[in-house]
Amino acid sequence: MLSGGSGGGVGGAGAFLQGAAAAAASLLGPQASDEVQAQRRAICEGCELYTLGALGATCGSFGARQGPESAEHGCGCVLAVKIRGSFNACPRGKWT
Ligand code: SF4
Repeated sequence: MLSGGSGGGVGGAGAFLQGAAAAAASLLGPQASDEVQAQRRAICEGCELYTLGALGATCGSFGARQGPESAEHGCGCVLAVKIRGSFNACPRGKWT
């Protein structure tokens, strides 16, 4: 997933680099099953934070956020990446 960030708001290049590092970890680490990914995708597509932009669907606006900020505004992850990682979780607890 594209997540990460300091919780205090990391903007610009820092947020992008943290997000990229988290995405790489999601892509290279254990992958969720196709069934789990499909379930996650369906939940995200019905979520109020589902956002379509230049990078495709993201959890809120793109950018690394964690903690309370992530729960409120979304983690900023690219969802196509986030849902793949076996150990990723929705910041609002809608899926694990
Ligand atoms: S990860 Fe959670 S909060 Fe983000 S879009 Fe998906 S369901 Fe919504």
